Amino acid sequence: MSPSDHAAGRDQETGRAHAVLAETADLPAPWAAICGASVGVVQGRWNGPRGLGSADPCPDCVRLSQG
Ligand SMILES: [Zn+2]
Repeated sequence: MSPSDHAAGRDQETGRAHAVLAETADLPAPWAAICGASVGVVQGRWNGPRGLGSADPCPDCVRLSQG
């Protein structure tokens, strides 16, 4: 896996960004992040400003997405 294979999900309660597999990003909400968290919003790519470039990317998703 690489960061470009993921979409950026957002946990609306915490504001934390999580990585969602791009191939599941077209499914209805909520989405399961690769760390197991449930996210209510998917917005853009994980390797963009809403994901890895955001203020609070999930450390588990960062580690898992960079495998
Ligand atoms: Zn996560």
